[in-house]
Amino acid sequence: ARTPMMAGNWKMNNTIAEAVVLTQEISNQYEKKEWDEAVEIVLCTPFTDLKPAKTVLDFDKVKIKVAAQNVYWEPSGAFTGEISVPMIKEIGCAYSIVGHSERRELFGETDEMVNKKVKALVAEGMGAIVCCGESLAVRDEGTTLEYVTAQVRAALAGLDAAEIAQCVIAYEPIWAIGTGRTATPEQADEVCAAIRETVAEAADAETAEGMRILYGGSMNPGNVDGLMAMENIDGGLVGGASLKAETFVQLIKACL
Ligand code: 13P
Repeated sequence: ARTPMMAGNWKMNNTIAEAVVLTQEISNQYEKKEWDEAVEIVLCTPFTDLKPAKTVLDFDKVKIKVAAQNVYWEPSGAFTGEISVPMIKEIGCAYSIVGHSERRELFGETDEMVNKKVKALVAEGMGAIVCCGESLAVRDEGTTLEYVTAQVRAALAGLDAAEIAQCVIAYEPIWAIGTGRTATPEQADEVCAAIRETVAEAADAETAEGMRILYGGSMNPGNVDGLMAMENIDGGLVGGASLKAETFVQLIKACL
């Protein structure tokens, strides 16, 4: 009985004016009774859009959360250009994404940095949406399960079971991100099952049973049902299809 999560990762899209329009459109389609408890809905916006999006959602009294896409592990200080956990917490963020493959590839984030960010979030009582996923080269080599579970172990290192329970894990095969090429439900579920096993080892069986594991990578209204039917897939972390209210709402409805 895990509550599914549908999280839109806007990436570096939407100015404040655009963010307000999109948030308003999603909010307008929010079906209060049906969605309130059934799906946890999260908008992971650029830092500049967090407060405006949160203001719209609070005004409309809809249970949709906002989250950051990245965060720094120190609470304050001489770290030019960075944003801290207390800063996003004050805005009312429920989570931050941590260790997205784009941050790992383009901005040099290591497993150690990902672990520090997860620790900083849970220490402040926030949640982390921890991303993992293999490249095409790793998949072709046949070492996907080892690679992904090592990423998860490293991200959760040093956390106790209660802290791990504050996290959500997103499995995003890099070869499926923005390519229109989705993992098959069976491919995705195999990796998500291995991730759940890894959570059981890092925490305990109960924490693993309650852990939401999301799929990400070209999720869209055409493939969401097959993915959501799998035992170990509890929702989505969605890029492109989260930028239009209509498609994002279709994905939310697929979780009901
Ligand atoms: P797309 O849904 O655009 O493939 O992006 C997936 C992703 O990276 C979400 O974090």
